[in-house]
Amino acid sequence: VAAVQRRSVVKLGTTALLGTALAGCRPALAPRLAPTAPAGRRLQLAVPRVRLDRVIRTTVGLRPHRDGGFVLRAEKLDAKVLVHNYGHGGAGMSLAWGCGVLVADLSQPTGATQVAVIGCGAPGLCTARQLQRRGYAVTIYAATVPPDTTSNRSWAGYTPTTALIAPERRTPAWDQQFRTAAEISYRQLQTMVGPRYGVYWIDAYAATDDPTARPGGGQDGDLVPEHLRPGRDRQVLGPGEHPFPTSHAVRTSNLAIEPSIYLDAVVDDFLAAGGRIVIRRFESRRELAALAEPVVVNCTGLGSFSLFDDMELVPIKGQLTFIVPQREVDYRVSSRAANGGNAGLNPRSDGIVVGNSQEPGVWSLDVNEEILKRNLEAAMTFVAGMQPPAPAQRLTRSRPPSVPPALETFLDVDQ
Ligand SMILES: Cc1cc2nc3c(=O)[nH]c(=O)nc-3n(C[C@H](O)[C@H](O)[C@H](O)COP(=O)(O)OP(=O)(O)OC[C@H]3O[C@@H](n4cnc5c(N)ncnc54)[C@H](O)[C@@H]3O)c2cc1C
Repeated sequence: VAAVQRRSVVKLGTTALLGTALAGCRPALAPRLAPTAPAGRRLQLAVPRVRLDRVIRTTVGLRPHRDGGFVLRAEKLDAKVLVHNYGHGGAGMSLAWGCGVLVADLSQPTGATQVAVIGCGAPGLCTARQLQRRGYAVTIYAATVPPDTTSNRSWAGYTPTTALIAPERRTPAWDQQFRTAAEISYRQLQTMVGPRYGVYWIDAYAATDDPTARPGGGQDGDLVPEHLRPGRDRQVLGPGEHPFPTSHAVRTSNLAIEPSIYLDAVVDDFLAAGGRIVIRRFESRRELAALAEPVVVNCTGLGSFSLFDDMELVPIKGQLTFIVPQREVDYRVSSRAANGGNAGLNPRSDGIVVGNSQEPGVWSLDVNEEILKRNLEAAMTFVAGMQPPAPAQRLTRSRPPSVPPALETFLDVDQ
């Protein structure tokens, strides 16, 4: 225990030095050590090495939010049928497969065999696949394709209600569409777990001094059926049972997606099933009406603001900072910092994601340096207060193994 404490003190010193490197930013939260407990009782979790010199990139994406929720309906476009499927806010990765089935249902009565899908983010790709599964010949037309879509810049958990709809705008018909989409998507994503699609289950910890805290953002109330709520298997860990610098930690199982792996794999599936992708930007409905396909599906997300004059669409800017991946960090953790920062850490193979922001109404794709500094500082302070695994103890496994067996035993990694 003494050795563990000594190492933690050294880490605090390192972080203090790094804190001064963040120009003009003072740590808002004094780091403190997690309560000590016998190593056997405590979760043995590797400590993420959050440092300025380990930052590898920051990405910005604009969530396509509508107070009235996503739009999923059919209308006439001259002699064609136009099916809208856009405006999924912070839930487009979570709802895409189910919305795709609803689009296929709306396309069925047309009797058409060829469909044009406009847009190649998660909603467009999953819709295209659902249509293929019903036998349609599908062409995707899109201005950009992965990795250049909002979907690629997603934090990408199963978060079906995040930034989705203003509660007072819900209607029974919309609720029904949402629940169907959420259910189908949840089941589909479960069957995609594994390295091929980059979908996996992961332990997520909410480090908190309030053991009644409910993890996971998004809508409460009766919108999400109980069995679809993230965090149903909620388990509260008390002082000494976890390594975090808070009194408690709430552990839940979360379904997570690695967007770069996932989107490329769905593109591959789409092409393998005979789909075509055409790179093209549309400026007007007239251009869409001139396409050869009798059914056109609009999955342009925020693009519908100008293409269909939907002034209800509002961007919710989101920014993620990545540090060098650590294979031994296989759990998520979130914590609110006193500096207002988001000390959230989300390990992926393309980097450990630090933070996740929401700036409503901001159209800029520029990095917000203030948010970047605040979140990094919050994360550095947080990990400085974590208790490292005891030497020679096995790490607690939070994800299916992605490391060779030799690495499963903790080898006193330089923190
Ligand atoms: C930081 C961040 C975190 C997020 N976290 C989550 C999460 O945890 N869980 C979750 O479910 N969701 C999350 N989201 C939300 C999710 O990423 C979006 O809901 C989803 O990506 C939106 O998909 P989209 O198809 O609307 O947009 P996009 O992925 O951008 O796709 C739009 C497509 O339409 C094309 N297009 C647009 N306009 C035109 C035009 N005029 N002509 C031709 N093509 C056009 C584009 O080129 C592109 O191919 C997050 C988003 C961000 C930014």
